[in-house]
Amino acid sequence: MTSRRRFLHSSLLAATSAALPAFAATGQAPGRGSAGAKLVSTWDFGVGANQAAWPVLAAGGSALDAVEAGARWAEADLCNNTVGRCGNPDRDGVLTLDASIMDGDGRCGAVAALEDIAHPVSVARRVMERTPHVLLVGAGAQQFAIEQGFPKQALLTDKARAAWQEWRKTSKYEPKMNAERLDTAKPGDSSNHDTLGILAIDASGKLAGACTTSGMAWKLHGRVGDSPILGAGLYVDNEVGAATASGVGEEMLRNAASFLVVELMRQGRSPDEACREAIDRLVRKRPQASKTLQVCFLAINKHGEVGAHALHRGFVYAVCDAGKRDALLDSRSVYTTEQT
Ligand code: ASP
Repeated sequence: MTSRRRFLHSSLLAATSAALPAFAATGQAPGRGSAGAKLVSTWDFGVGANQAAWPVLAAGGSALDAVEAGARWAEADLCNNTVGRCGNPDRDGVLTLDASIMDGDGRCGAVAALEDIAHPVSVARRVMERTPHVLLVGAGAQQFAIEQGFPKQALLTDKARAAWQEWRKTSKYEPKMNAERLDTAKPGDSSNHDTLGILAIDASGKLAGACTTSGMAWKLHGRVGDSPILGAGLYVDNEVGAATASGVGEEMLRNAASFLVVELMRQGRSPDEACREAIDRLVRKRPQASKTLQVCFLAINKHGEVGAHALHRGFVYAVCDAGKRDALLDSRSVYTTEQT
């Protein structure tokens, strides 16, 4: 992950400055049906997620299918220790996955604390489409997944197990934000939490979003973050836009944060302004916590305008449309120094 982040940083970010739309275009021809379509995803692995999702939109497919494809790519990414099958486990050495999916008509599904199922986002979609419920958790979510034909498989990688064994020497629960993009980053500064949040607008103007994560490394067994909680880690409304979040999920849960960002856009804020206001509220309410924890918001409105804001430096997000494919942008942040 570290080397991949650094590679992307040097190859894709070289020309970008904070939040300026200095897109890197690959020069690929737009696909049929892609006019007006756009994808935005959190973090550098959002580039890969967008690349997996774009063919769906380029072929005139739905935003919902696109975000599921992008999230599945991240869940299968063998380098990612914060999302999907290669994620770090909880305090007890158990890998538990959280995911949600939502479309702009309010249809949604989610799973939390799911074990031994490789694609939680697709299980979340089944919850949405084949049950009268929105959220299934733990053993019940796994039972449902197996009934739906998802294979049960041991997911914890040797690398994740080794990292957990190393962590047990101190057993200190300590969220580490993604500082490795900073000039001052030291080896081992990589994050021990991050989420793939992906938002799409398709050629018909419909929105959808998905969110998938292994949550905070070394969390208490049974801990659920914001990502599978609609309104906290993800919210979508065709009338307005969509928002997703990454960072320490307890902060988003306290504030129904993604819902807040969408509601701020409904009141006339741009995506950028809405993300900034949500971050500012957090700083006002939790001034001490906000100095050490990372929180990041990403939003798109129904016109395809994109915005992002984070508490701390280091949040990057990927944008993809017919003209720009592998764009990775720096978010603005409240705190601009490495640690405040
Ligand atoms: N929001 C995720 C969680 O709290 C982690 C992250 O995105 O950094 O589980």
